[in-house]
Amino acid sequence: MSCIFCDIVAGEGDASVVATGPRTVAFLDLFPFAPGHALVIPREHAVGLSDLPDPDAAEIMQVGRRVAVAAREAGFAEAVNLFLADGQIAGQTVFHTHLHVIPRRAGDGFPAGFGASPQAPHDELDAVAERLAAAMPTS
Ligand SMILES: [Zn+2]
Repeated sequence: MSCIFCDIVAGEGDASVVATGPRTVAFLDLFPFAPGHALVIPREHAVGLSDLPDPDAAEIMQVGRRVAVAAREAGFAEAVNLFLADGQIAGQTVFHTHLHVIPRRAGDGFPAGFGASPQAPHDELDAVAERLAAAMPTS
C-alpha cells in the first residue's frame, strides 16, 4: 500500500525538509495553518500511537521540541501548539502518524484550549485513572 509520508522518507515525495534524525523526518505541512507549520514523522511506517515504538515516539517529541524552538527563534511564532491526531475521529487524515508543530500568534483563531469543561469530581478522576493504569502498555 502506498503512503505519501513513506514516500517522503524515501526521498520520493515533494517535501520541504526542516530536520532529519536517525528515526524521524520533519518537513513543512503542505497545507499550513501558518508559515513554519511542520510535521514530524517516524521513518518507519506506524499508523498511530498503538503501533509506534517508544524510541520513535521519544525522537518525535525531541525533534518536535527543537522545531518549536526554531519556529520562535526564526520569528514564525509567538507561541506553539504540538498536536497529534490519533485516529479518524480525532482528525487524522494521513495514516502514518505525525506530530504537528503549529506556530501561534495572538488572535490567529486556532481552536486551542480546554477551559470550557467543568471541573470533574475527584472520585471520578480516581476511577478513570485506575482504569487507564490497568490498560497501560508496558512498551
Ligand atoms: Zn507511511
